[in-house]
Amino acid sequence: MDNALTTFAELGLAPDILRALDEMGYVTPTPIQEQVIPLALQGGDILGAAQTGTGKTAAFALPLIQRLLPFANNGTSPAKHPIRALILTPTRELAIQVEEAVQAYTKHVPLRSLVVYGGVNINTQIPILKTGVEILVATPGRLLDHVQNKTLMLNQVNTLVLDEADRMLDMGFMPDLKRIVALLPTQRVNMMFSATFPEEIRKLADSILNTPTFIEVARNETAVTVTQVVHPVHHERKRQLLAHLIKSRDLRQVLVFTGTKLGCNRLANELNKAGIHADAIHGDKTQQERIKALEAFKAGTIRVLVATDVAARGLDIEALPFVVNYDLPHNAEDYVHRIGRTGRAGAFGEAISLVSESETRYLRDIEKLIGSAIEPTIVPGFEPGAADVPAYQSRPPRPERHAERPERPERSAPRARPAPSRDALFDAPYVAPETPHAESTPALVRPTSKKQVAALFRSPVKTDSSGQ
Ligand code: AMP
Repeated sequence: MDNALTTFAELGLAPDILRALDEMGYVTPTPIQEQVIPLALQGGDILGAAQTGTGKTAAFALPLIQRLLPFANNGTSPAKHPIRALILTPTRELAIQVEEAVQAYTKHVPLRSLVVYGGVNINTQIPILKTGVEILVATPGRLLDHVQNKTLMLNQVNTLVLDEADRMLDMGFMPDLKRIVALLPTQRVNMMFSATFPEEIRKLADSILNTPTFIEVARNETAVTVTQVVHPVHHERKRQLLAHLIKSRDLRQVLVFTGTKLGCNRLANELNKAGIHADAIHGDKTQQERIKALEAFKAGTIRVLVATDVAARGLDIEALPFVVNYDLPHNAEDYVHRIGRTGRAGAFGEAISLVSESETRYLRDIEKLIGSAIEPTIVPGFEPGAADVPAYQSRPPRPERHAERPERPERSAPRARPAPSRDALFDAPYVAPETPHAESTPALVRPTSKKQVAALFRSPVKTDSSGQ
């Protein structure tokens, strides 16, 4: 089959689904869609190695929907709408986004979908469940709450999808997954997607899937449209460098990753103090706070969203222009996940990593994983040498391991604040430059790229036929 010529119609999808895809602007299937859809339409089990941004949601959702078409109906009786497909995701955000995609794909067919997740009042979910839904997207814990409350039945499920299975395991959902699987009919189609395949994932796959076809797409390969930039910098100067890059290059819609929740909050506060509108999302934020921050970021009212890996995992952010690794992840595969937030669906993106000396070992791991070295670009004025540490930090350097923790320099900063201005550039009010500083445009950035600052997010398409 010639990749360039394959269309969704050629994959065997029904006209009502094709119409929805057309309206969403999907023209060509992505590689994972091209491989998964025909197999899943035939009802085979699938083990997919695919990271966020590859189009894996449509890869599992479209055949799932098509296989439910014989059951699609406009009947009002709940008995006509039992749960027939169950999609499990690790996070609330991913659950919401997957269900939004399902709603969009089912716009022209009378199949109902619903998302249930924890952190919100369970009673709000019960009335909709009672009216009946064919496709349920859920986080494992809340699903089990409903099972316990007897507010849903899983005895007619014929399709199970585990999305981001590795993250579910990381988050301790293994016992919940086992309990859920034990509640399902044994005759069913299973699809499991994971970006990584440690031993536990293989075991989980063995226990759930029935002679699956293994489909691997761009595993551990970063999107070709993402330009990767590494700026070596002293760890104490990362905040200043980040503010400098954002201001001097007029970066907008910047997703910044930190290693800890504490560091995440503090960085957002510091950026705000420096006149850069920022907010933080991490596991300790309430669902309402996370949704509010995400919406503001999508709308462009917040310029920088600082996030931890777990909080950012499920964000559906299309064509996000900039991702910054403020702290390099200790697990190289997280780097691939992080930068998968940019350069999606063929759009240009830039992944900027601020790397201190003690993080170079993590950089080596990343380079090994992605199979290529990333040329470091020193930003003038931010050379990594100790001499560049601002004068107010005159205390003796801490041992590297200790100093590396992002929260420590942050905590000490207020105590050392008698000086009126710690860093002229960092503290200066924001003035958009007419042209970016020559020295601040890293050599690796595509010279032709106009920075993409528009809000290029997919807005959820609501459906009348969802019954919600
Ligand atoms: P996913 O990897 O499923 O999170 O998808 C990443 C983004 O790509 C989502 O915003 C999808 O709406 C979009 N997308 C998925 N498949 C296609 C396609 N074939 N054409 C255009 N956009 C797509």
